[in-house]
Amino acid sequence: MAKRDYYEVLGVEKNADDATIKKAYRKLAMQFHPDKNPDNKEAEEKFKEASEAYEVLSDSSKRQVYDQYGHAGIDSQFGGGGFSWDNFTHFNDLNDIFGDGFSSIFENLFGGGFGGGRSSRTPNRGEDLQIELSLSLKEIATGIEKKIKINVKDSCDKCGGSGSADGKVDSCTQCHGTGQVRRVRQSLFGQMQTVSECPSCRGEGKIIKNRCTKCYGEGRMAKLKEINVKIPPGVEEGQYIRIRGQGNIGPRNGAHGDILVLIKERQDDTFERDGNNIILEFPISFSQAVLGDEVLVPTLTGSVKMKIPAGTQSGRLFRLKGQGIQALHSYSKGDLIVRISVITPTRLSREETDLFTRLKEFDAKRKLEPGKSFLNKLKEFFS
Ligand SMILES: [Zn+2]
Ligand SMILES: [Zn+2]
Repeated sequence: MAKRDYYEVLGVEKNADDATIKKAYRKLAMQFHPDKNPDNKEAEEKFKEASEAYEVLSDSSKRQVYDQYGHAGIDSQFGGGGFSWDNFTHFNDLNDIFGDGFSSIFENLFGGGFGGGRSSRTPNRGEDLQIELSLSLKEIATGIEKKIKINVKDSCDKCGGSGSADGKVDSCTQCHGTGQVRRVRQSLFGQMQTVSECPSCRGEGKIIKNRCTKCYGEGRMAKLKEINVKIPPGVEEGQYIRIRGQGNIGPRNGAHGDILVLIKERQDDTFERDGNNIILEFPISFSQAVLGDEVLVPTLTGSVKMKIPAGTQSGRLFRLKGQGIQALHSYSKGDLIVRISVITPTRLSREETDLFTRLKEFDAKRKLEPGKSFLNKLKEFFS
């Protein structure tokens, strides 16, 4: 398939200004948001296509090359396989559009490739830590702030993180503090120079002769930390929130890693989740089904009144708009779907038995046809 013109992808004129281009991208990003289109390969591709177009057209020098030479001029800048998320430099714009935390959830949806350039490993960076957070449907529906306790490696109290007992840190003599060693080899093609990590200082460029006795020179120790995690509404099992810079500190005052908070969804006794919709089985009595009634239906955040029309059958579905879960990074809300279950009374009193016996005489005149009409109704409802 021929690659589409970037201006066409974003739906803008050839002379569109930066604001117009950003606006057009924003619109497409909202439309093809992966959360609104779960497991939709086409939306994922469309989102990527729009992002590629935006990457080029929002950059004046790339745009100039594209205007002059077309795709042929720009493709080589993306590396062998064409545009990939590693080439995308506008994650901040996405955060502006979807709110912070978007790209971390995105990383999970699209696998490691997304935003890989951002967490590029610096040599002394501390490890990322992972922690599970179990949430109720109610908490997921409204979003919540939670305090979590986690053991994190932080700067050593005794040596201040230097790893040295006397505060003295020497420059590595083998690499002269650069952390790298160069070797020149003879090969078929002539002299070849290779650069590798210095083996005596392991790339740090520094040597500690007199190590700190508390951290044994590592410059860090475990501490119990309390972290505040803000969970946006609409998260799902298996997604994670990345809290940047709160993970382990790197050895000898290196950079902090991140904490990944993995979302676990607790089963609810009353409600069942279906995407952003909530399904509730609601029992009513024979008389309510026959005569109709007004009932109070529980929701995730309270309760709402609902009218049961006279002649309601068991299994009938009612949709209460906007009473479901708020979609992730969006203002739209799912619905509460109430499935009516007519309860057959048991353990009747004498009087009730008499009444039902009397009713049975009337019922004998009604002809009940077996069939599959209910299933058809169910399909209609969800189509
Ligand atoms: Zn120490
Ligand atoms: Zn060295």
